[in-house]
Amino acid sequence: MSLLDHKFGQGGIVVSQLEDVLNWARLSSLFPMSFGLACCAIEMMQTFTSGYDLDRFGIIPRPSPRQSDVMIVAGTVTFKMADRIRRLYEQMPEPRYVISMGSCSNCGGPYWEHGYHVVKGVDRIVPVDIYVPGCPPRPEALIGGFLKLQEKIRRETLVAPKAVERFLANHTAEQIQS
Ligand code: SF4
Repeated sequence: MSLLDHKFGQGGIVVSQLEDVLNWARLSSLFPMSFGLACCAIEMMQTFTSGYDLDRFGIIPRPSPRQSDVMIVAGTVTFKMADRIRRLYEQMPEPRYVISMGSCSNCGGPYWEHGYHVVKGVDRIVPVDIYVPGCPPRPEALIGGFLKLQEKIRRETLVAPKAVERFLANHTAEQIQS
């Protein structure tokens, strides 16, 4: 349920659940980190220009991982870049999200078979929330990815926040107990 679905009482008071308010604040102020890897990054930069106006969704790029909560992996992920991407991801505060933009980042793209230097999907390095297909995806596709991410954030709960969910998904019961 969206925050706007709640009823306004007398005097402009709105009654809601805490997690709805938190999710609404998060999804309405996403700060993607501004970095790119290859040709897909050109389309990503285009998406940030005034023609597409991402500001209207509250999406504003930030120059530092410590100020960002979204990583857009736009381009070819080479093995040389892999540990840098992982390090940037670890420097972002929780809750943090990853959008994989384009075929290279999704699965290796044109290099998936013979690209000895290319990681076959950035999800081998960092957990991906949204995959945007294309080579390269158009800005509209990236905007669609952001809208999907907003839908995902809207469904988050305080009982099992994203970091806990991910930890449980990546560890067996024996690993957690040991
Ligand atoms: S998916 Fe296509 S456009 Fe994007 S980085 Fe790879 S080769 Fe370039």
